[in-house]
Amino acid sequence: MSPHDDHPALNRLPPWVKAKLSSKAVETIVKVHDWVETECIPAEPIMKAQLVENRWKTPQLMKDLRKKAKSNGLFNLFLPKHFGDLSPGLTNLEYSCCAEIMGRCYWAAQTMNCHAPETGNIELLAKYCNEEQKKKWLQPLLDGDGCSAYSMTEPDRATSDATNIACRITREGDTLIINGRKLYGNALWNEDLAFYILMACSDPDNPNQWKRHSTVIVPANSPGLTMKRNLTIMGYDHAPEGHGEYVYDNVRIPAANIILGEGRAFEIAQGRLGPGRIHHCMRLIGQTERAYELALIRCIDQRKKPRGKLIGQFDSNIERIASMRLRLDSMRLVVLNAADVMDTLGNKAGRYAIAQSKILVPEMAANIIDECMQLYGGQGLTQHTALPEMWTYARFVRIADGPDAVHRHQVGRDQLKTAEGFRNRHEAYQRRYQELCEQWGVPYETF
Ligand SMILES: Cc1cc2nc3c(=O)[nH]c(=O)nc-3n(C[C@H](O)[C@H](O)[C@H](O)COP(=O)(O)OP(=O)(O)OC[C@H]3O[C@@H](n4cnc5c(N)ncnc54)[C@H](O)[C@@H]3O)c2cc1C
Repeated sequence: MSPHDDHPALNRLPPWVKAKLSSKAVETIVKVHDWVETECIPAEPIMKAQLVENRWKTPQLMKDLRKKAKSNGLFNLFLPKHFGDLSPGLTNLEYSCCAEIMGRCYWAAQTMNCHAPETGNIELLAKYCNEEQKKKWLQPLLDGDGCSAYSMTEPDRATSDATNIACRITREGDTLIINGRKLYGNALWNEDLAFYILMACSDPDNPNQWKRHSTVIVPANSPGLTMKRNLTIMGYDHAPEGHGEYVYDNVRIPAANIILGEGRAFEIAQGRLGPGRIHHCMRLIGQTERAYELALIRCIDQRKKPRGKLIGQFDSNIERIASMRLRLDSMRLVVLNAADVMDTLGNKAGRYAIAQSKILVPEMAANIIDECMQLYGGQGLTQHTALPEMWTYARFVRIADGPDAVHRHQVGRDQLKTAEGFRNRHEAYQRRYQELCEQWGVPYETF
């Protein structure tokens, strides 16, 4: 029994998860909880106010919180054990517990350098860069100096099948020249953005379609790289990070900026996304818990009494609350299971569990937050609450990092491969039934 067993940071965790947490992890989860509750959530309106002054500059509050989180040992918590001293040594399961708490405030993960796309980018650079590249590009990100973006999606291609990526890299001696268009990747307008990790086509005629693409680092200040506009997500500009729409017009970078080697982008892309996907899901559960809390508060609001009853006194709403609670708890089980499978069997073996999270959680979360807006009434659709932003987050996670439809397709295809085994089993039932009919003198019937 840990002294923290009753702490609100842990009280929604199932017993099998608590049993797997190291005492160091419990301390960290509690610390993250206290950080988010006291330094982040109460400061949300201040962050908004500072952004009004300058939409594309990182607010001073964020800068201060990042410094403070770093000095409190709350930086880079997502880093796996192979980072040595830099890593807090949390398992995926342990970090997932932290990620849910971070998710309670949309930007809290960023205060701890645990936000997307930084976490995925840091892991990519650490895994695939040479020592010189690590010093130049990875170390500043680990230190929290500057940030990076990931650039893969294109407006003119179905990027969920990345073999379609058309943005072109050509080589002239030791220089790479890039031409094409890209969608998404943090906005160039924010001066803290240092570079893009770009996936583009370097060898279109290679007979092996998995070797046609390369991943390269493009400094944000490269001549010829322009951001046409910021993409709004369902009306939100997501400043000061944003999402850019880019044109690469003869952008020149040194060949030394190729990661891992020419034509090896797919090896890199494969290694990038496993843990990041479940971090998004856990943060989303944190957001959904907050939406749920807002709805509960509304249910007992004495000022809101249609037909003389509190919102929470209507039977239909009591059932709604139960359904939300059950779905929230089941989402958590699904994601924690995925984290545990990754810890115990590896990311590859965790493919189904990761897909399960990616398919179920954003859709269910959007549905729950939608119900919360309904309970809240008209105000729930306005800026008086964060519910519309929370819903938008849930909606966009269905597409960001790869559409849920692709995971469904994969799961469905794998499931169809099991059909033959079931047919054999049912044929065995039938044969046994025939034997039993003979034994018991019952006519054998087939349909
Ligand atoms: C908020 C947000 C942030 C993002 N951040 C980034 C970023 O930082 N960097 C970046 O590069 N991209 C980013 N993206 C883009 C995102 O990763 C892509 O939009 C996504 O991978 C899909 O690619 P696409 O838009 O080209 O869709 P397409 O490939 O054109 O697919 C369109 C639709 O077709 C359907 N579909 C596709 N394949 C299948 C299949 N196998 N089975 C069934 N249906 C299928 C899906 O419904 C899919 O949504 C972001 C997106 C959002 C919303």
